Amino acid sequence: MPRSTVARIDLQALRNNYLKACERAGSAKAMAVVKADGYGHGIARVASALNDLAPKYAVACIEEAWAIRDAGLTQPVVLLQGVHAAEDIAECSGKTFEPVLHGESQLEWLLKGGHRPVFWLKVNTGMNRLGFRPEELPGVMENLEKTGALSQLQGFVTHFACADDAGSAMTAEQTSVFINATSPWPTLLKSVANSAAHFIAGQPLFDWSRPGIMLYGGSPIVGKTGPELGLEPVMTLEAPLITTRVVRAGESVGYGSVWTARQDTLMGMVAVGYGDGYPRHAGTDTPAAIDGRRIRLIGRVSMDMLAVDLSNAPGVSVGDTVELWGRTVGVDEVASCAGTISYELLTGLTSRVPRIVQPSARQKPGAR
Ligand SMILES: *Cc1c(COP(=O)(O)O)cnc(C)c1O
Repeated sequence: MPRSTVARIDLQALRNNYLKACERAGSAKAMAVVKADGYGHGIARVASALNDLAPKYAVACIEEAWAIRDAGLTQPVVLLQGVHAAEDIAECSGKTFEPVLHGESQLEWLLKGGHRPVFWLKVNTGMNRLGFRPEELPGVMENLEKTGALSQLQGFVTHFACADDAGSAMTAEQTSVFINATSPWPTLLKSVANSAAHFIAGQPLFDWSRPGIMLYGGSPIVGKTGPELGLEPVMTLEAPLITTRVVRAGESVGYGSVWTARQDTLMGMVAVGYGDGYPRHAGTDTPAAIDGRRIRLIGRVSMDMLAVDLSNAPGVSVGDTVELWGRTVGVDEVASCAGTISYELLTGLTSRVPRIVQPSARQKPGAR
C-alpha cells in the first residue's frame, strides 16, 4: 500500500475562486493562469475544471499549452513568455495559441515566417524583465503595419512589479505609463492585472485580467492570507503520523539537533519532507494540524519526514492524518514561516505526492 501522503485538490474551491476573480475583474474578462502545472495542482485537471467558465487560459510556455490541448480543451491559450523558437510561430497559428511577443527576435520570427497567429505585445512599464519600452512602440507598430501583421495583433500586455504591496506607488506609475504608451491605439485590447491587482482599490483592469495564485486560494498580497481575501484553499497537503514517542527533557530531535526538549514532550513523526516539496526552511514553530487542532513543527525538516510537537493533541495515534497546509493551516502561513510565498510551495510540490481530487458537496450559488 502506498503511504498516504497526498495533496487533496478541491476543484469546487478552484471554481469559486475563479468566479471571485471574475467578480473582482468587473467588465474585464479573466484568463485563467494555469502555468507551472496549474501552480502544482495539475494543469489538465485545473484547466478542465474551469472549462465551462474560462474563455481563455494563460501559460508560460508552449509545452504547457500543448498539455491544455491534450486535455481536449479548445479555448485560446496565451503564451505569457511568447515562443522560444521561430518554428513555434506556425504551431501557434495552427493551435490558437496567442504568444505575447516581448522582444525583437520574437518579432522577426513572426514577420519572417508564413504564419500569422493572433499575438500580443508586451510593454515594459517598469518591471524591466521583458517587453518593448514605450518609446519603442511606435516603431514596432509601424513595422507591423508595413508587413501586414497588425491585423493579428490582439493588444498590449504589461506586468506589475509591486502589486503585492498595497503601499507601493509603483503599480499606479506603471499603469499610467501603460495608458500613455498604448493610447495611440485605443481599439486594441489591454491586459495588466495579476491576482494582486484584483485587490487594489480603483485599479483599472482593462479588457483581460490574468489571475493565477488567487485561483488556488493563495494570497497575492503581502501580509494577508488567502482566506482573509475571501479565497478558498484548493490544495490540502496531508501525511500520516508514522510514530509517536516521548522525547525526554534535554533530548534533541532530528538533524543538527537544533531543537531540544525543555520538558518531556510527546512528539510525532510525519511522513512528508522536502523530497515532497515541503519547505526545509520551515523550522520549529511552523504550524500544522491534526484532527482540526493546530500543532507545531520541531527541529529540522528531513527529506522524507518531519517532527511535530503533539502536546496539543494528546489523543492521536499512528496512522492519523496530519494537515501540513489546507483549511486549518493556510499555505500562506507555512510559506511565511519558511521565508517564502505560497506560489513556491504549491509549484514546488514534487511528483512523489499524488494529487487526489476531493469529492466536494459544497456548491456556491452562482457556481455552475
Ligand atoms: C504568472 C503570471 C500571472 C499570474 O500572476 P499571479 O500573481 O499568480 O496572479 C500574470 N501575468 C503574468 C505575465 C505572469 O507571468
